[in-house]
Amino acid sequence: MRPQILNPLFRPVTALPGIGPRVGKLVERLAGSKVVDLLWHLPAGLIDRRFAPKIKDAPPGQVATITVTVDKHAKPPNRRVPYRVRVYDETGRIDLVFFNAREDWLMKNLPVGETRVVSGRVEDFRGTRQMTHPDHIALLEERDQLAAVEPVWPLTQGLSPKTLARAIGAALDDLSDLPEWHDPALLKREGWAGWREALRAAQAPQTSDDLSPESKARRRLAYDELLASQLAMALVRAHMRRQGGRKTAGDGRLRRLALAALSFRLTSGQKQALDEIIADMEAPQRMLRLLQGDVGSGKTVVAALAMLAAAEAGRQSALMAPTEILARQHFATLAPLFEAAGLRLALLTGRDRGAPRRATLEALAAGDIAAVVGTHAVIQDDVAYKDLALAVVDEQHRFGVAQRLSLAAKGNAVDVLVMTATPIPRTLTLLAYGDLDVSRLTEKPAGRQAVDTRTVPLKRLGDVVGAVGREIGVSRGAPSGHEPGSVFWVCPLVAESEVSDLAAAEERFAALERVFPGRVGLVHGKMRAAEKDAAVAAFAEGRTRVLVSTTVIEVGVDVPAATVMVIEHAERFGLAQLHQLRGRIGRGGRAATCLLLYAEPLSATARERLKILRETDDGFRIAEEDLRLRGAGEILGTRQSGLPAFRLADLAVHGELMQMARDDASLILSKNPGLAGARGDALRVLLYLFERDAAVGYARSG
Ligand code: ADP
Ligand code: MG
Repeated sequence: MRPQILNPLFRPVTALPGIGPRVGKLVERLAGSKVVDLLWHLPAGLIDRRFAPKIKDAPPGQVATITVTVDKHAKPPNRRVPYRVRVYDETGRIDLVFFNAREDWLMKNLPVGETRVVSGRVEDFRGTRQMTHPDHIALLEERDQLAAVEPVWPLTQGLSPKTLARAIGAALDDLSDLPEWHDPALLKREGWAGWREALRAAQAPQTSDDLSPESKARRRLAYDELLASQLAMALVRAHMRRQGGRKTAGDGRLRRLALAALSFRLTSGQKQALDEIIADMEAPQRMLRLLQGDVGSGKTVVAALAMLAAAEAGRQSALMAPTEILARQHFATLAPLFEAAGLRLALLTGRDRGAPRRATLEALAAGDIAAVVGTHAVIQDDVAYKDLALAVVDEQHRFGVAQRLSLAAKGNAVDVLVMTATPIPRTLTLLAYGDLDVSRLTEKPAGRQAVDTRTVPLKRLGDVVGAVGREIGVSRGAPSGHEPGSVFWVCPLVAESEVSDLAAAEERFAALERVFPGRVGLVHGKMRAAEKDAAVAAFAEGRTRVLVSTTVIEVGVDVPAATVMVIEHAERFGLAQLHQLRGRIGRGGRAATCLLLYAEPLSATARERLKILRETDDGFRIAEEDLRLRGAGEILGTRQSGLPAFRLADLAVHGELMQMARDDASLILSKNPGLAGARGDALRVLLYLFERDAAVGYARSG
């Protein structure tokens, strides 16, 4: 249960004054739906309104807060001319200028003869001082409040700065302090204030230094967030380790059969990763290992051999993939190896129902099936194993800790191997997978071609279509003897709108189909599973030669004949994502080309990012560069990544805090594994504050 003290923070934003349902929606889009989200929406700038000169001392170009008396209103003769209100003080006069003004509103707020305080940027217009649309028009008694440093928060369309400021102000006003979860020595060393004070300071910057992520207040808040995340991971890890493991040791018999059936030899990287995995399985502790490697680096084969090692010990294994297509693909990779070993392998997805499903479940429970490959279906409640020893989770950055745990809970002290194709920098690995040991596949299997990557402006789309025609062998001009290739065509990711993603893909499909009738397929997330399969199968078998698709997931398909990948609006994709997409081609031993189509004009950063892709094929280097160019918030926060997104920490800046948090978390748990006492209570509050609720349950009681 969440500690009571946090309840006010987890109220909906609409509980704040001035936020009704309409504004609530805007705030939700901007920051989040809860009060705490709004508190973490920190200013991006500030306006200093403390400069309160007389009119004659207010220079053009500067923001000033001036006390004036209203002289007269000059109504414009027509809409093109602005409405002017002349005001003065004892040193001079200035015009307040309003376009598209509402007269009744102006009359009410600036009554002739009365004194008001106005604040805004002073301008010079043909020798006359003026202020266009003052930011504030206030009563004299409000002057002190107004003449201060005003934070500027990032906004969203339709939400006024005043409304947002009022809501954040209200949230800060009735904020109760939280118990201190940090070590006093740390606070002293860093010069950090308590939580509430730090939050208030971060929300009320006085100088531009206060806006920096390096400011004391912001560092403290970032550290809170990082500690919550590292502590949560440490708790999960401790929980998993505590459950103990058991030795699963095979004799190598089945692995030898499978290796003999492979048409290639393992790379030394694959061998090493496999050795690490096997050593973990044979050890009495429980394995919690991450296998990290680019798309196509050969992770699945490594996993398959580990699964066979479990079978040699007479135990079962399961491989869980995030999508139906990937599950089928893994099944196809594993099936010949299990066949060579003389074992039964089952596929289990959400599509299996009724009698066939029951038969699979019975065979699994009886131990007749050595291993199962599937989607979430493999962790359904009614799926039971005779003796599950190894769970492989192909994360493709989709599952969280919870799913990993639920698969592991299907057996006794199950060894867990997580596979990910997201090449993330080391600091981020710590962050996303801090609970795991890591094996990395850094080299490419032999025979893999470097992909020739080019950037092409979208206006040359016609040329691209021509080149595609030559590649797939339907256009005249294709060189004779040219073996037709296959082309992935990835459509733009339109922010936040699956509907428009879809429209773009359908449109492109229709256009290409007109040029290459009968040769083009389409696959997208809204299609029924059977339709998707059919489209992918037709492409894999070469019946269609161009596959238009919307998202990465749909392209998670191994088609060795694919030689070209076209990515529209490449500038909208993450670098790592482009790299992963590109990894889908160049697998068949033939030269492959990736065409990154971009819309002009390209920003300097976008240009540099696309250049990196042209220059290197090393996923880890690309990830480091991406981190440098975009910042971790971007990499971790984008909807593609699915990795934990940070609200307050910026890993490009706070990398060293991350390391500190990791050490701190392990120290805390070694001294106080049950999170007992006052400090323990405070740390629980911290975990709930950052919604690491699930982890709290793993604090050992007593
Ligand atoms: P990942 O799971 O890392 O994306 P896969 O295991 O699916 O990669 O391997 C991609 C392709 O490379 C598969 O067709 C696989 O058979 C092949 N492959 C794997 N290891 C090797 C190797 N050592 N040499 C040649 N081809 C390999
Ligand atoms: Mg794979």
